[in-house]
Amino acid sequence: MTQAVPALITKKLGEFEVIAISDGLLPASNASAVGIDQAAAARLSGVPEGGVVQIPVNAFLLKFRGKLALVDTGSSDTQGPTLGFLIQRLSEIGVAPDMIDYIFITHVHPDHTNGLLSPKGEVNYPNAELIVHEREANFWLERQTSESDSERLKRGTAAARRTLSPYLDRLRRVKDGEAMNGIAAISSNGHTPGHTAWQIQSGGEGLVFWGDTVHMAALQVPRPDVVMVYDLDQDAARRSRMSMFERVITDNLAVAGAHLDYPGMVRMVRRGAGYWMEPDA
Ligand SMILES: [Zn+2]
Repeated sequence: MTQAVPALITKKLGEFEVIAISDGLLPASNASAVGIDQAAAARLSGVPEGGVVQIPVNAFLLKFRGKLALVDTGSSDTQGPTLGFLIQRLSEIGVAPDMIDYIFITHVHPDHTNGLLSPKGEVNYPNAELIVHEREANFWLERQTSESDSERLKRGTAAARRTLSPYLDRLRRVKDGEAMNGIAAISSNGHTPGHTAWQIQSGGEGLVFWGDTVHMAALQVPRPDVVMVYDLDQDAARRSRMSMFERVITDNLAVAGAHLDYPGMVRMVRRGAGYWMEPDA
C-alpha cells in the first residue's frame, strides 16, 4: 500500500502561489531566550525548565510567472535526524531541485542555508540563482575574521563559506528595497547583520517572508523584547522585530515565518498593549 502524501498548505496572492514546506523540527530549550526569567519562559511556552522546545523550521516554495523559487533551503543532514526533509517534500509534490530557478535567502545560518548542499557536499540546486542581501553576503564571505571572534561566529563563518562557495558564480547581491521579479529585500538586521525579509505584492495584497524575526512565538509575540542567544546583535534584533511587527500590521501584510508552527502563515494583530498572531492559511 502506498502511503498518502499529506497535502502541503498553499496560499494564493495575486500572481504568486506560496507553498509552505516543513524542513522539520529543531530541538531547543527556553534557555536560548535572553531577557526573560526562566519561570516566565516556562509559563508562556508551557515547557518546563530544562524541557525541550521544538522549534519548527519552514521553507517556502513560490510559483510565479512560470518560475519556481525557494525562500531558504532547510538544513540537509547537518542538524540532526529531525530536520532536512525539504527536498523529499518537494519531490512529493513533483518538484525536483533542478527545477528551482531562484533561491531567496533570509540569512546565512545552518537551518536556512545548509540545505544548499547535499550530504556529500554537492550542489543541490544546479540551476538556481541565489539572491542574498549584499550586507549578509559581505559579512559572511568578505569579513576579516579575527581570533577574538566568538566560537559561534567562527563556526558560522566557516559553514557559510563552505555552503556558499559552490554558488558564487550565480550569487546575486541585492540592496535594501531592491526587487527581483517583484520580490523585494527588506533589511531586518540584528539576528545576523544582513538578515532580510522578502516582500511580495500582487493583486492588491502583500506578504512578508520574515525569516527569523521570531524564533519562539510563545515567548516573542507577547514579549517582543525577548532576544535569542543566536542573535549576533541582540539590541538590533529586538528593534527589527518590533518594527517588523508594526510594519506588517500597519501595511496589512500577511506573514510567512521560518520558525512559526507549520504552515508558518499568520497575521499579526494588536492586542491590548501587545501583539497576537492569527493563522492565515
Ligand atoms: Zn533560523
